[in-house]
Amino acid sequence: MKKTGIAVIGYGGMGNWHTRKIAGIEELELCGIYDISEDRCKVAAENGIYAYPTMDALLNDPRVELVTVAIPNQLHREACIQVMAAGKNVVCEKPVALNHKQLQDMIDASKQYGVLFTVHQNRRWDEDYRTVRHMYEKGTLGPVFRIESRVHGSRGIPGDWRNQPEYGGGMVLDWGVHLLDQIMQMIPNKLTSISATLSYVTNERCDDGFTVTLQFEKGPTVIVEVGTSNFINLPRWYMLGENGSAVIEHFAQDGKIVMVSDWEKRDAVPVVTAAGLTKTMAPRTKETIQEYPLPKQTADVRDFYRNVAKAIRGEEPQLITHAELMRVMLLMEAIFEAAEENKVITDFEDRVSEVIR
Ligand code: NAD
Repeated sequence: MKKTGIAVIGYGGMGNWHTRKIAGIEELELCGIYDISEDRCKVAAENGIYAYPTMDALLNDPRVELVTVAIPNQLHREACIQVMAAGKNVVCEKPVALNHKQLQDMIDASKQYGVLFTVHQNRRWDEDYRTVRHMYEKGTLGPVFRIESRVHGSRGIPGDWRNQPEYGGGMVLDWGVHLLDQIMQMIPNKLTSISATLSYVTNERCDDGFTVTLQFEKGPTVIVEVGTSNFINLPRWYMLGENGSAVIEHFAQDGKIVMVSDWEKRDAVPVVTAAGLTKTMAPRTKETIQEYPLPKQTADVRDFYRNVAKAIRGEEPQLITHAELMRVMLLMEAIFEAAEENKVITDFEDRVSEVIR
């Protein structure tokens, strides 16, 4: 098997991750990296990786068929188009761009230069997500009417550029792009309404968290939330079906399913609170519910690159498509609009059909 020669532009946190992953993928051969920072080039050399002296040197290397672009977000469009114009296939880091016009330019370039262009939506291979998706698709909980997907941290926005809008900072673009992509993959139904709030707890200029409510046609209500000032984390996933509920606490998939085992025994011992009593909110008695372990799924994120290598050779369609990327980009734009103008967006699908023809 001929290996696909690959180079990485940007050898920061994520560029380094890419080089380590690539080393374990037999379809790929790492040719080198390029970074504008001399320090990062030195680190690459210390790690036994060739550092191209210039971007042109990388682009002129005939061994390089595929380039991964892992630099700050506002530079993605220009760098990816430059790489495609040199006849190389591109994997761009997420968020692919700052708005849908930039993304359209990138898609157009891939058509113009006849090269593959895709985005590293690696969290499609998160095992917690695979498990939730499995339960949703199998109907494990019965018809699902609500899904909550959250990530919570407590250190604000990390790094030097992620907290500045000019660099494409903020949590909608940083984490939202992953969580929204997961939901759009899992739920094929039309999206009928979008509402959103953004938070600015640690940063006045850049969203450091958000809560989005998505309503799908004939489908679940979905809450997607990112917080960076949360000293107590809520579960990563919470899913409610008509026959039971599931919770996944962390990425490591600790959680459980609770299903009703006896619908007939509805009686409950009332809970007495300081100011009254309630049967409605009383817990079910033990004999009417059953706890099950999660149907834990596994995934190998290296399948992302395996697919890219095969797609370049025309052996498989590319997994992460332009239409999917555009849908998520338009969703993020709608979220900013909903939050900034305090309104509910109900024409999302019309917006999508206007852009994706
Ligand atoms: P970083 O700041 O750690 O690294 C960025 C690197 O790019 C730096 O070494 C910098 O010197 C270099 N750089 C800047 N401009 C350059 C240019 N014009 N040419 C070459 N090199 C240049 O940032 P990071 O955390 O590695 O993020 C990089 C990208 O990866 C971002 O788009 C980010 O959103 C994405 N990312 C994705 C994931 C994921 O899970 N998919 C995780 C983290 C970051």
